[in-house]
Amino acid sequence: MAPRFIALLLLTFLVHPVQAQKPGEVFNGKAPTMDFSGVDHFYRVASVLKKGQSPGREQWDSLLSAPGYSHYFIEQNRDSTSIKRLMRLVFSPSEEKALQDTLASVQGDFRPELRPLHTLLAAKGERDTLRQFRKQIKTSNLRQQAIKEASALLPEEALGGEKEDRSPPPVNFVIYNLDGRGTPDGVVVDLVMAEIMGRKGAKLFLAHEFHHAGRESRLQVPNRKQDLRAFLLRAFDQLQAEGIADLIDKSYLFSKMKTGAPMSATEGLDSGREWCRKLLAAFAQRHQKAYRSTPSTVRRVDSLLVAVADAEEDGNNQLLRERSREILRSIPNNGHPNGHYMADLIANQFGTDTLAVTANDPFRFVRLYNEAARESGGRSVPFSQEAMTYLARLENRYTE
Ligand SMILES: [Zn+2]
Repeated sequence: MAPRFIALLLLTFLVHPVQAQKPGEVFNGKAPTMDFSGVDHFYRVASVLKKGQSPGREQWDSLLSAPGYSHYFIEQNRDSTSIKRLMRLVFSPSEEKALQDTLASVQGDFRPELRPLHTLLAAKGERDTLRQFRKQIKTSNLRQQAIKEASALLPEEALGGEKEDRSPPPVNFVIYNLDGRGTPDGVVVDLVMAEIMGRKGAKLFLAHEFHHAGRESRLQVPNRKQDLRAFLLRAFDQLQAEGIADLIDKSYLFSKMKTGAPMSATEGLDSGREWCRKLLAAFAQRHQKAYRSTPSTVRRVDSLLVAVADAEEDGNNQLLRERSREILRSIPNNGHPNGHYMADLIANQFGTDTLAVTANDPFRFVRLYNEAARESGGRSVPFSQEAMTYLARLENRYTE
């Protein structure tokens, strides 16, 4: 049963791109600014399962449509089968044996796809810790501090102001996948992740998501089915979006995600929180490795860009589509590590104010990176003139 179960997890928890928030369009100040109702619904369902009962359809629907969860299960239309199975596995007494078998089969496996399983285990084992942390942050001005941090790397007024009619989005807490999102309906944050990061880490983690919420890219990324260049345009938009947002939180979060030795087969099988910490440590390692490989990634993306330009010249649509797709695949984790490297280089050379005023413009981001890379004394690799000429053509075509 376990391998099939894991395969289902792998299919369900795919990486989704960030969505740009249009300030002022959705938020009218009616929603609570720090909303934990998703977490309440989660524990309501969990307590039914713990009693050995089955939650009714209405209870599941209330959970899946709660603030935060609705982003994943309604807006992104994710299949809810997996979270339902996972909650049964973790909380139902009758599933205890299956849970132990599953845990034994994923020993030493720190792929991001296993985050939901361990997040739920942490929620089960650390309910009091989470309750305390929630109390602590509910009465603090964490959200305002996070908005301030995010605003420092955005154009002026990007996140509006509390006194204006366009106020910044609320924060919706969930228990799901050790992750966060900056979405049109609000900032979504996993409470287990926030607790592990501590108060300061949670503030920076929220700020990262607020940065996504406040950024309005001038690049109109077309639909993948209608435009062969959609993949590569998405890649360049992601490099800037995640790269600048990572400047806000990654160095602090990584300092918290200290890498430990892999757990032994018998140690802490049920300790979800410890597993989450290890998953995050593995994530930090992958990020740092890909960050350091940015020069070779840039070389690869550069040659693919030139290939796309050639394919376009030859009218070879199949090749154009393949190479465009390869560009998106060449940047790991949705652009985080390589974008982070580029943003760091730009910040060191031109200052964070330059990053802030240009934060909506992925083409400026590449040009700034190129200037900084050229002056790096060979440590960083700039894009070629040919690739930059092609990007300038795309800029004309896909920006207003
Ligand atoms: Zn992000």
